[in-house]
Amino acid sequence: MKGADADFIIIGSGPAGVSAAFPLIAAGRRVLMLDAGNDLGSQEESRSVRILGSDLESLRVDDGSSPKLQTPVSRGIVERFRRDSGIAGAGFMPIGSLARGGLSNIWGAQISYLDAEDIADWPIDIASLQRSYERISQRIGISRNADFTESANEQPVLPLGATAAHILQRHKVAKPVDGSFRLFPAVNAMLSQARPGRAACDLRGDCLYGCPSGAIYNSRQDLLLLRKSPHFRLLDNMRAVSLARNAGWTVGTADGLSFSAPRIILAAGVLGTAALLADHLPLEEQGLRLLNSPTLAIPLLSPARLLRSSTPTHSLAQLGLSLRYGGGTSDYVTGAIYEVGSLPAQSFINRMPLGRKAGRAAFETIAGSLLVATIYYPGDQSRSYIHRDATTGRSLIIRGGFADGFEIRAEALKKALRREWKRLGLIQLPGASLAEPGVDAHFAGTLPMGASGPSGTSADGELNLHPGLHIVDGSIIPDLSSKYITMTIMANADRIAHRLAETEAKPAL
Ligand SMILES: Cc1cc2nc3c(=O)[nH]c(=O)nc-3n(C[C@H](O)[C@H](O)[C@H](O)COP(=O)(O)OP(=O)(O)OC[C@H]3O[C@@H](n4cnc5c(N)ncnc54)[C@H](O)[C@@H]3O)c2cc1C
Repeated sequence: MKGADADFIIIGSGPAGVSAAFPLIAAGRRVLMLDAGNDLGSQEESRSVRILGSDLESLRVDDGSSPKLQTPVSRGIVERFRRDSGIAGAGFMPIGSLARGGLSNIWGAQISYLDAEDIADWPIDIASLQRSYERISQRIGISRNADFTESANEQPVLPLGATAAHILQRHKVAKPVDGSFRLFPAVNAMLSQARPGRAACDLRGDCLYGCPSGAIYNSRQDLLLLRKSPHFRLLDNMRAVSLARNAGWTVGTADGLSFSAPRIILAAGVLGTAALLADHLPLEEQGLRLLNSPTLAIPLLSPARLLRSSTPTHSLAQLGLSLRYGGGTSDYVTGAIYEVGSLPAQSFINRMPLGRKAGRAAFETIAGSLLVATIYYPGDQSRSYIHRDATTGRSLIIRGGFADGFEIRAEALKKALRREWKRLGLIQLPGASLAEPGVDAHFAGTLPMGASGPSGTSADGELNLHPGLHIVDGSIIPDLSSKYITMTIMANADRIAHRLAETEAKPAL
């Protein structure tokens, strides 16, 4: 192709984009990555200000999202997307990012792996996905919490918090014989041993709001490695707004620039990719299906741990859980248990109307015994569609909702969970809340691999009817289990890029 700027243009520098870039540049392909964001951050502020805001604005926000999403640092990541992506929500909170590194700037770093049963309907085999899981875990650094045998690719385990360890011990003593409820130490994309440019987790326990030492994986870290390659070029502040097919593909940006390549790889996140493809997809009638995981947050108290102090650990997920609560394939949830005691206490104590000493005493009395469980339903329990907004004609609107019969399932789940909390010696506190669809940001299935028609893609993520236009983010994951999705998005992007590097020995045109 004459005048091509690269062999491949990747749009998006989140976990999917960087995972596609590595195999391509290793095979000597020229990769140009465009990202809407840049590297400017709010590093100058104190930690309290980053979390609570300079005049405590994060405490006043109540938009139904999690407290984490209400912090100034998170809002900085998602608000530009709300403003500039042209996507609005009706009964749906569109969470996306136009920041370098995407949502990995604010993710919780919990990892799940899919198995052969999970991908039974996908047009790929489990062995190829597993090879990619291994490559990704070696690259990003995975560690488990204590009480788990390490696997070859993993870093040494990190210590469990005392309350999590207590709960796990109780579970081992009396776990359900039918295996319907499983509790296990969480697997997190976090370093327990330092690597070049990244420190190991120092167990200071305020990592939920961003790790200052880089122990938690963020795809920005990969950009530093990628930029060392002569085959790789990253252009910041390049918001793609159009895609046109000519001899190959040309990307137009918000600033009026354009870049061409034989093949384009979309890694803009599920909502970002849908926005970019709006002119190429039939959005008018039923709209584009969007799978998301309905999400439940449940506060818990461990009376046995009252008045006990918390131990040094990290504040990401401590325990993972799964629960089968019925006979149907959808009656299955997974989730995580977090220790509240490892949240950044000082940020709250500083602002308690009690004075420092009394504030600390009050917080410490209960903090070590508090937990929060987050539960994810499978994506087939959501019913969300992306439509073209009839009033503006150009922007998109996501109408969100739950699947038929969801209320009945929700009641059955609550009952089953209460039984398990009791067995673990936990009291469920008031305040359990089901989030508005979208808040979870576990999205998939808009342009599924293996589906026919204009909204389907090949096993290599190539959009039907649009040769040379590939998608590697969650859009092409055909279904959404309740398991954490990002590791699979990255592995699938790695798998596709390996195939493209093998098959595209020369530029396509
Ligand atoms: C609060 C929170 C907690 C989470 N916790 C977990 C967890 O514990 N485990 C888990 O597995 N997942 C978690 N997730 C989900 C996880 O963050 C996403 O699955 C993951 O980031 C998706 O990666 P991606 O590369 O596909 O997209 P994104 O991370 O959204 O990256 C998209 C990239 O594309 C760029 N972009 C978008 N549009 C354009 C455009 N038009 N032009 C140029 N560039 C563009 C953006 O700037 C961004 O860099 C969480 C998400 C949130 C919000």
